[in-house]
Amino acid sequence: MGVVYRRGSEVRSVNEGDRVAVNAITPCFRCAACQQGATSHCGGLLGGWKLSHVKDGVFAEYFHVNDAEANLALVPDSISDEAACYTTDMMPTGLRGAELADVPLGGTVAIFGQGPVGLMATAGARLRGAGLIIVVDKRPNRLELAKAFGADITLDFTAVDPDEEIMEITRGVGVDAALEAIGSQMAMDSCLQTTRPGGTIVNMGIHSDGDTIDLPNDAWGRGMSDKTIRSVLCPGGKENMKRMMRLIETGRIDPTKLTTHTFRFDQLEKAFGMMSKKADNIIKPLILF
Ligand SMILES: [Zn+2]
Repeated sequence: MGVVYRRGSEVRSVNEGDRVAVNAITPCFRCAACQQGATSHCGGLLGGWKLSHVKDGVFAEYFHVNDAEANLALVPDSISDEAACYTTDMMPTGLRGAELADVPLGGTVAIFGQGPVGLMATAGARLRGAGLIIVVDKRPNRLELAKAFGADITLDFTAVDPDEEIMEITRGVGVDAALEAIGSQMAMDSCLQTTRPGGTIVNMGIHSDGDTIDLPNDAWGRGMSDKTIRSVLCPGGKENMKRMMRLIETGRIDPTKLTTHTFRFDQLEKAFGMMSKKADNIIKPLILF
């Protein structure tokens, strides 16, 4: 989130001095992957993730935005800098997860992990008309916030077996969709175990560890469960961000509830350190320049 300092010659829709937000994913919208609709995989798998990955990132006073005409979203005056920040990753990732879950109106959904993305998926599932939203985490402040974003039932997986609870709540049927917002083998297991046959599993977490992910074979129906597994990388582009901003403007979602800590730019390392340890029950830090 920032202000346009210099405008490239091909950029027409923003002016110098405009308040803008830039997505974490900045596709070119011209290559084969983009034209096939897989814009987050611009140029190849995970290729839409450019800032901080294959080009200099945004923790600087000035940074360059590639394909700015497609990736710079104007921020309306009615939206705060803080709220706009959440349209760059947390909201688009969580809400795309809820879209892909495609829960029928009144349907049931379980969401494993209530970090910022999981919480936005909870908000998205509520907006998409889920009739029952069950969320799983262990941190009380996250479970509390989940209720504010629309969760009906919160489960602390250190106190109860979430798989058993979810099967009991759904009277042995399982949920229509389960979302993985942690990036853990255990949560993937739970998603498979608690999704009904023919239901949908959406992975949003990053599985950083290991070369393979196992599927519990019985819950997978030994390959014949008709369960669909989908995966999400944050969708980029200004049009998607405009949809996020509309939800903020109309009061459908207030993402600033995710901000638990605020840091100055020179405290950046402290913010990262706290995030890696989830110290002081941090959910999301806001960095101010
Ligand atoms: Zn592309």
